[in-house]
This record gives sequence, structure tokens and C-alpha cells, in this order.
Amino acid sequence: MIADRRRFLRLAGLGALATATAAAGAACERAGQPGPTASTGPPPPSTTTAAAPTGPPDWVALRARMAGELLLPSDAGYDAVRRPYNSLYAAHHPAAIARCTTPSDVQACVETARNSRTLVAARSGGHSYAGYSTPDQGLVIDLGRMARVEVRPDGTAVLGAGTRTIDVYAALAAKGRALPAGSCPSVGIAGLTLGGGQGVLTRLHGLTCDRLLAADVVLADATAVTATDGELFWALRGGGGGNLGVVTAFTFETVAAPRVTVFSLRFPAGSVPDVLGGWQDWIGGAPDELWSNCIASAGSPPSCRVGGCFAGTAAALNPRLDNLVRRTGATPIARTVTAMGYLDAMLYFAGCSSKPVEQCRVAAPTPFAASSRMLEAPMRDTAAVAALIDGRQGLDVAFDSLGGAVGRVATDATAYPHRGALATVQIYAGGTDRRPVSEVQSALSGLVGRGAYVNYIDPAQQDWAQAYYGANLPRLQAAAARFDPDRVFFFPQGLVNT
Ligand SMILES: Cc1cc2nc3c(=O)[nH]c(=O)nc-3n(C[C@H](O)[C@H](O)[C@H](O)COP(=O)(O)OP(=O)(O)OC[C@H]3O[C@@H](n4cnc5c(N)ncnc54)[C@H](O)[C@@H]3O)c2cc1C
Repeated sequence: MIADRRRFLRLAGLGALATATAAAGAACERAGQPGPTASTGPPPPSTTTAAAPTGPPDWVALRARMAGELLLPSDAGYDAVRRPYNSLYAAHHPAAIARCTTPSDVQACVETARNSRTLVAARSGGHSYAGYSTPDQGLVIDLGRMARVEVRPDGTAVLGAGTRTIDVYAALAAKGRALPAGSCPSVGIAGLTLGGGQGVLTRLHGLTCDRLLAADVVLADATAVTATDGELFWALRGGGGGNLGVVTAFTFETVAAPRVTVFSLRFPAGSVPDVLGGWQDWIGGAPDELWSNCIASAGSPPSCRVGGCFAGTAAALNPRLDNLVRRTGATPIARTVTAMGYLDAMLYFAGCSSKPVEQCRVAAPTPFAASSRMLEAPMRDTAAVAALIDGRQGLDVAFDSLGGAVGRVATDATAYPHRGALATVQIYAGGTDRRPVSEVQSALSGLVGRGAYVNYIDPAQQDWAQAYYGANLPRLQAAAARFDPDRVFFFPQGLVNT
């Protein structure tokens, strides 16, 4: 299992040594169960006309209103459902978990949370890096049972908000269609889309949010709307999960599923400066069909590998890989190039090639620390990146290419702001020690840029709102003030907290 996960992370660009220790997760857990109380959210801003809370949340009344299930800490099954994917946050014990089955259930939850000022968060795939979809003592609006994929004859697809990416890929592939999205099979399409959504088809077909046509949303006043244009629709495309409302369904434009060739080149220890330098020049001039990442792994000295996906044949790819090798001046110690269909490629990047789809959907919680930067322009000092991770252990810095279709969308066309970036840079370490990740992330700002990717949300991120949203921050703040004036969807790095 650990070996599988390590392989997945490397292929997917997360690249960490997944040294999850069961003891670390267990150490965070509480001995007892909290009672059925809930912490209240922050007071509304003094300028609002919000009504005073009507009292503590009435879970009995909420349960009676729901078609789905409401789990309280005393209920059997609560503990299994409450656990977030990142077990660094295993100590979070929600006051209640609403396993919604209809948009009306979601409306009832939002109304209950709003009226009682209870912290509330939607949870779809549960993969928030910071555990934000599992608010301690709050209400979880769990959309896992609202998972469905409907592929229409015109090639559009309607996805229930609780759908995991692997189920999206499998259902679309069965119809010869695809959606550019991420590599992890158990990530929710909801969180992924709302923060942008990058993956192996991103340079060819854009971010996941760029393919969004409509979103069904329950707003902070508990009304249900469908957003197809205007400020809400603009903000949902990159403004980050947890803000403005709870999405219950997404409609996407899909693309024809391509046949692809996947590849991996492993370079010797000590080659990081040369490989990073050659890779960034190479990918900067590559066609949209070519997506790639370059992962530098800590060590003494650090090592490096380049992987990726080409929407074309192996015969067309191989000369390009030869060109990459020439640019690096380094000799790979291993090189694999394999042609395959779209679904097989998604299973390959998920580290699931030999498993049935059903087994890929479920991910065991694991502790990890991660953060990000954006590579705004080619780095001049790639040796400095290698020096940052020299002598460390179990930490990877993954450069995931952007550009292509991502860069042809105007910065203000959607809330996702990093349109001009060459790559997303992720710093990742399995385990419970955040310090090395924060040190490397902080030092990288002087080498690559100060931006960061909201989907790699980092509770320790300095100046987080500016880093995640850049030039789009003021417009997002205005959208949050308009759609959530009472700060119902408050969380530490939420738009209503800026
Ligand atoms: C192993 C792993 C691999 C990853 N790979 C990629 C990748 O390849 N590409 C990429 O771009 N990202 C990737 N990510 C990051 C991923 O996109 C984010 O973690 C994303 O937020 C997860 O979405 P979720 O629905 O699974 O998480 P959740 O924890 O359920 O939600 C994340 C945030 O969105 C909010 N939210 C959830 N559902 C809704 C909803 N229906 N409406 C409104 N808000 C909602 C939550 O409250 C929370 O704040 C990866 C993450 C992990 C852990």
C-alpha cells in the first residue's frame, strides 16, 4: 500500500515519500466523543443586518428534515465517516455530519448552520490539505452520497458534487470522452474544480474549471441557484472550495478522449540543477499536447526525475525526449515510454494500473504536510533549488507544467489567477513534521515567485489571500461580501476572513 501510494504521488506530481505512520495519526485522536454541541462561527461584521442566532443547532429538527442521514458523535458509524484524508487533522471532531442525498438536504443544513452560527463546511472528496472540510465542532455537509455522472448525447456531463475523479474518468471513457482534471483518483471533483484543477491534459484542454458550464449552488441564505454566468460563476472557477456556497452539481463540457503516451525519465543523484534548467526551457517551448513534471527529491545529493503524458504517439514523442535529454546535459539512468488509452493513463497516473476502479476510489487517511509556489518565469538559479533540499530526507519539490491552454485564458476571465505561470511548484513531505516544508516553501519565494495554488491550501501560508488569488483578490472579496455577507462559510483561509 505504501509502495503504491509512493508511486502514485511521484507519477501525479505530488512525489512525496509517503511515510505515513499509523502512530502519528492515532496520537492526534481524542479518547472520548464530544457531546452534540457545536462551536459558533465568528460574529458577523458590524455592517451587516444579520439576525441574531436563534439558539444552538437543533439536530433533531435537522435530522427530521433530511432525506439523507445526520450522524452525531454518539451514532454508530460517526467515527469512520468523520476522518479527513490528511490525518494530521484526525483530531477534528465535527458536532454533526450530514450525509446529504438531495439539494434540499443541503439547504436545510445551511439554514441550520446560519441560524445557529455554527461553523459549517462542505465535504466532497475530503482531500483538503488543511482538513478544512472537517471543521472541529462544526457541521459537515457531506456530499459523498450525491455522486453521479450523466454523460449527455451532446458531450456535456453532469456530475454530482460528491463524485470522485476516478468515477468521472471511468464513466466518461466509456463514452469516448474526457475531462482535464487531476491525477489522484479519490480527490473530489468539487474541491478540485473550485480551486482550478490541473492534470495531465491541462496544457491541451485547460484547467478543470475552464470546462465548467454551470454549477448548482446552495447560497449562504439557503436558496438554491444555478450559476452559468455573472459574478458567482466567475468566482466559482478558481475562487477555492468552501467559499460563497455549496455546489451540489456541476455541468462540464467534455472533450474527445485522446490516446496518449506516458513517459518517465530518471536522472542520477546530483543532476537536479541541470535537469531542472533543461526541463523548464524544454517545456516552455513544448506543444500543448505535451504535459510534464520535474520532481526533485531531497537527499545527499538530491535526485531528479521527469515524467509526463503526450497526446500523440511514442514515435512522435521520442525525438522530443531526446531533445530534453540534450538540453539537460545529463544521462537518464532509466527511461520508459508507453502508449495507452485515456482511462489506462489516468489509472497509471493514479498508481492504480493493476486495480479495479472501485479500489482506487477509496484512500486510507495519511498524514502529510504540503505547500506550493508558482513558477512565474524560468528560474535563473536552479542550483539554489537543489541546495534547499540537499541533506534533507523525505521531501519532494514537484514542478507541474502549466502553459498551453491555461495561459490563453485572460487572468480576469475566471477567478484562477496564475494564467501566466510556467508551472505549479509543490513542496510535499509525508509524516507529521511541517517545518521542513515551510522552510523550503518560504525560501523558494525568492527563486520562483510568491504566488501559491489554493488547491494545495496551506494553513501556514503567509499572506495567503494574495498568494492564492493575486490580481483577482479584490473582485473575489467583493463577491464574498455580496454572496455571504453574514460569513456563514467562514474558515481560517476563507474569503470572508480577508
Ligand atoms: C493525494 C492528492 C492528490 C491531488 N492531486 C491533485 C491534482 O492532480 N491536481 C489538482 O489540481 N489538485 C490535486 N490535489 C488537490 C485537490 O484538488 C484539493 O485538495 C481539493 O480541494 C480536494 O477536493 P475534495 O473535494 O477532495 O476535498 P474536500 O476536503 O471535500 O474539499 C476541499 C475544500 O473545498 C470545499 N468543498 C468541498 N466540496 C464542496 C462543494 N461541493 N461546494 C463548495 N465547497 C466545497 C471544502 O469545504 C474544503 O474547503 C490533490 C490532493 C491530494 C490530497
